[in-house]
Formats: sequence, structure tokens, C-alpha cells
Amino acid sequence: MGEDLFWAIRGGGGGSFGIVLAWKVKLVPVPANVTACTVSKTLEQNAAKLVHQWQSIARKFPKEIHSSIAIARVNSSEDGKMTIQASYGSVFLGSIDELIPLMEEKFPELGLVKEDCLEMSWAESILYSTVSIIGLPLETLLNRTQKSALSQTFFKAKSDFVKQPISESGFEGLWPKFYEDEAKSAVMVLVAYGGKMDEIPETEYPYPHRAGNLYSILYVVNWEEEENKNSEKFMNWMRRVYSYMTPYVSKSPREAYVNYRDLDIGTNKFNHDKGSYTEAKVWGLKYFKNNFDKLVYVKTKVDPQNFFKHEQSIPSLF
Ligand SMILES: Cc1cc2nc3c(=O)[nH]c(=O)nc-3n(C[C@H](O)[C@H](O)[C@H](O)COP(=O)(O)OP(=O)(O)OC[C@H]3O[C@@H](n4cnc5c(N)ncnc54)[C@H](O)[C@@H]3O)c2cc1C
Repeated sequence: MGEDLFWAIRGGGGGSFGIVLAWKVKLVPVPANVTACTVSKTLEQNAAKLVHQWQSIARKFPKEIHSSIAIARVNSSEDGKMTIQASYGSVFLGSIDELIPLMEEKFPELGLVKEDCLEMSWAESILYSTVSIIGLPLETLLNRTQKSALSQTFFKAKSDFVKQPISESGFEGLWPKFYEDEAKSAVMVLVAYGGKMDEIPETEYPYPHRAGNLYSILYVVNWEEEENKNSEKFMNWMRRVYSYMTPYVSKSPREAYVNYRDLDIGTNKFNHDKGSYTEAKVWGLKYFKNNFDKLVYVKTKVDPQNFFKHEQSIPSLF
């Protein structure tokens, strides 16, 4: 299909270049068993300090550790009052006995112990970290409409990339937003970068968010069917949080993750027949940085008439 098109379809956003009928995938070896762990801490149990520390150290964890934090509001088990809970999740390509001393060395403040961890196959670890239920059959992964802890009936998501640790006061200003009504099932997931991501040059694939990131953020707010007539209320909560985060995240462009597609960024109702390349470039640079121009070049070559299009597909210059 030509090197340029093959480059574009590996990360250049679905629905822009054609329909992929089959992939041949080169697998990466993993051990027969991996270790998945979760440690949950509330603000009263020092969660804020740990999140603050994690920001600078997680990107330096060995490549075999995938580390993330899910932040949400909960009712405290002690006094029933609302508080914030941070759940530290990791998947490690190795055994529990190897991981515990590693974490004691790299992040002793977390206090990870054997009881927080389970060994399982890598495929089971994907199920564990997606639906957070142990013992489900692996076939669950084939169900494309599976509800997860992140996605209930309706949701709005946004993303950010963080390059400098956020101050403790920055986080303190965020917690009250999670106590608002709209945030009853909101979650914010921080995913550590570093490791292998640092080794891949920004132009190797369309996906450009590589070295220089401490972590990415996914913000999700969910609501139920009966609340959908008030969906703007939840959307606006998300927009307020996004606005609050502006000083703490990447700038020029404020980078975004294309898989957490966000029609708020750039022109919401981009019209391919009337819209310009300059308008598309607003979200194009956020998702793809300087790879956007090459994506437009490939698109113009392979689909000049813009047959494959949606609100944020790559535009053709034709
Ligand atoms: C709750 C939730 C959690 C998520 N968590 C993560 C996460 O942790 N990490 C992550 O990376 N992403 C995550 N995502 C995003 C998800 O991975 C993306 O939405 C991804 O695009 C889903 O692919 P799909 O094929 O199922 O979706 P679709 O909606 O079917 O496809 C996405 C796009 O690709 C196009 N497309 C589909 N099939 C083809 C094809 N054969 N050829 C060409 N184009 C095609 C579609 O037209 C569309 O534009 C999450 C999404 C949700 C809702």
C-alpha cells in the first residue's frame, strides 16, 4: 500500500484513510504470569501526598511496570463522609516476589505488600484492569459492548498530558470539583509515561506523545439514562475541570489523546465541505503534533475526494 499509507494507518486515527480488513500483528513476548496490584488510599490516608510523589517517580519505573492512578470520590468507610480515593494500579511483567522489593526501592511510601497483588496471565490482567472484576472468563474481552467501571450509560471524556509535576495546591483546588453533584461517578486516570514510550521518536508513527511526558490524564464523567435530559450539566462540569487544569498541563499545543476523542477541542462542528485546513489543524496539532501535516499529505494522496470522513477525520487538501 506504500510506506506513507502504512505509516498513517498505524495511529493516524480511524476512519480517515480506508477500511482495514485484516492486520498481521507482531507480538511482544510476555512471561506466562504477570502481577497485577491495586492499593487504594483516601485523602485521610495520605493519598494527595502519594499522588504528588508518584508524578515524578513513576516515569522512571523499570519498563516492565505499567503504573496508573484512578482518582474518584467515595464515602469514607470510617465516618461515611465524602472523600477522594486514589487507587494505585500496576501491571508488572514478572512475579510478586520480584515486584515487592522493586517497589520498596522505587516507591516505599506506597507500602505495597503481597496481599495487594495477584499473579495471572497477561490477558487476564487486561480484563482485571478494564472491568476490575476477578474471575470473569477471558471471552468477556470479545464483548464489544461490555460496560466497564469507566463507561456506564452516557459519558464525556477529555485528556491531557503533564510535563511538570502539578503542585500540591494544584491538586487541592481540584478535589472540591469532585464533591459537586455532577461528579458522583466521575473519574480521573493518570497513566505513567517514560519507559518504552521515551525510546520511540515522535515521527516514527503518527502517535506523537513520547519523551518529555510524565503522564497522561483521562477525565471521564458518567451519567444514567434518566439524567440524559440534563446532559449539559455533566458536560459543563467536565469543561470546568478542563479549564481549571489549564495552567498545569501541556501548552502550545495543549496535547490530547486521539482515542479519548473530544469534539470540544478545535471546531466542534467542523464541516469538511466548507471547513479549512487551518480549522482542522487546531485539533490536528493537539492529537498528532507535527505529524498532522504528513497525515494530511497522505490523506490528500489516497482519498482526495474525502470519502472517509467524520467530525475529526484527517482533511484532504484537494
Ligand atoms: C470507557 C473507555 C475507556 C477507554 N480506555 C482506553 C484506554 O485505556 N486506552 C486507549 O488507547 N483507548 C481507550 N479507549 C478508547 C478506545 O480504545 C478507542 O475509542 C478506539 O478507537 C476503539 O476502537 P473501536 O474499533 O472499538 O471503535 P470504533 O468506534 O469502532 O472505531 C473508532 C474509529 O475507527 C474507525 N474504524 C473502525 N474500524 C475500522 C477499520 N476496520 N478500518 C478503518 N477504520 C476503522 C471508525 O470509523 C472510527 O472512526 C477507551 C474508550 C472508552 C469508551
